[in-house]
Amino acid sequence: MDERPAPPPVDPDAVIERLEEVRARIAAVGDPDRVRIVAVTKGFGPDAVAAAVAAGLADCGENYAQELLAKAAGAPAGTRWHFLGAPQRNKIASLAPVVHLWQAVDRRAVVDRLAAVAPGAALLVQVDVVGDPGKAGCPPEEAPGLVEAARAAGLRVRGLMAVGAAGDPEGTRGVFEALARLGRSLDVEELSMGMTDDFEAAVAAGSTMVRLGRVLFGPRPGRAAVRR
Ligand SMILES: *Cc1c(COP(=O)(O)O)cnc(C)c1O
Repeated sequence: MDERPAPPPVDPDAVIERLEEVRARIAAVGDPDRVRIVAVTKGFGPDAVAAAVAAGLADCGENYAQELLAKAAGAPAGTRWHFLGAPQRNKIASLAPVVHLWQAVDRRAVVDRLAAVAPGAALLVQVDVVGDPGKAGCPPEEAPGLVEAARAAGLRVRGLMAVGAAGDPEGTRGVFEALARLGRSLDVEELSMGMTDDFEAAVAAGSTMVRLGRVLFGPRPGRAAVRR
C-alpha cells in the first residue's frame, strides 16, 4: 500500500528551460564541460526521471533504497543511478545491480559490505567537513583511511562528496574549499558538491558533480511524503 500523497507532476518543458538556466549559471562561475549534473528525483514521481532523461541528463540520484528501486524499474534505458543516502547494510545487495555510483559511503562497514556483494563498485567517500555530530559523512581526518580501505578492497574510489552548511553561505564556501583540498591530497578525480541553494559556490570551488533537485523540478513535496 502506498499512502503517500501523489507527488506533483513534473513538466518536461519546464525542466528543459530550468536546465538551460542552470547551465548558464554554471558557465558563469566555471567550466560547464567539467561539471556533471545529477538530477535528484527524490520525492518526485517517475515523470521526473523521464523529464531529466529527455532533457539530456542521464544521471539521476535518490536517497532511499525503495524509492530508487521503484523508479529504476521504470526508467529509460541508460539512466545512471546515484545513491545519495547512507546505504543500509541490508539494502546494499538489492541496490548493487542498479547503482552506478555510491555517493555517500562514510563507514568501514559499508565498504566491507560493498566489497562483498558488489566487487569493483564505484563510490565517493562522503565527508562531514564541519564535524557536526549526527550528520552524515566521516570526519575529514578519517577520510584518508576510508579511501585507502576501499581501494584495498578493490572498490573504485572516484572521489569525495560533501553537503554544505545549510543556511550558511560563508560556512558552505569553507566546506567546499576544504573538500577540494582534501580531494587534491588524496589524488581523486571527482568532487560531488553543490545542491540547489549552493551549486555556484561549489562549482567555483572546483566541483565536478552537482546534485540538483528543486532547481530542476520545482519545490519538493514534504518530507513526510517521501518513503524511506
Ligand atoms: C536532496 C539532496 C540533494 C538535492 O537537493 P536540492 O536542494 O533539491 O537540489 C542533493 N544531495 C543530497 C545528498 C540530497 O539529499
